[in-house]
Amino acid sequence: MNITSNIHLAVEACFEELIHDVKIYGPNHCVDHHLLSLHHLLGKNFSNALKIVDEGGVSNLEAKGSGRIIYMVQGKTEQYYTVFPGHYCSCQAFFYEVCQGNALYCKHQLAARMASIMKQHKSACVSGEELAVALMNNVVPRVS
Ligand SMILES: [Zn+2]
Repeated sequence: MNITSNIHLAVEACFEELIHDVKIYGPNHCVDHHLLSLHHLLGKNFSNALKIVDEGGVSNLEAKGSGRIIYMVQGKTEQYYTVFPGHYCSCQAFFYEVCQGNALYCKHQLAARMASIMKQHKSACVSGEELAVALMNNVVPRVS
């Protein structure tokens, strides 16, 4: 097992503890020690993610009937990125940093995950067709 794998396991353990504590004590409970651990492990991507969450930049779209959920996370401009928190983001950083093994997650993935855990995201219920359109419009990384 290499160092990256160990860091990944430590990050996932921190998220699990955070989820556990929020379930028991609620999202307003002091979770500073978890946040400090995650910041130590993930660096600036994590602090930038918390800024996105604080600014209300995370929304989720849930398809009526199927219950499928995607997250839309605001970038620096008005652009929103499509995010599956543990697996994918449509931003360039995901493509260039995460896919090439230089980061575990991009800030949008972390923002979606934290917003979900802390229940600090906007939600919209859409049709399956509307969800598909949202995916088709954002799933390909934009390379300029
Ligand atoms: Zn991203």
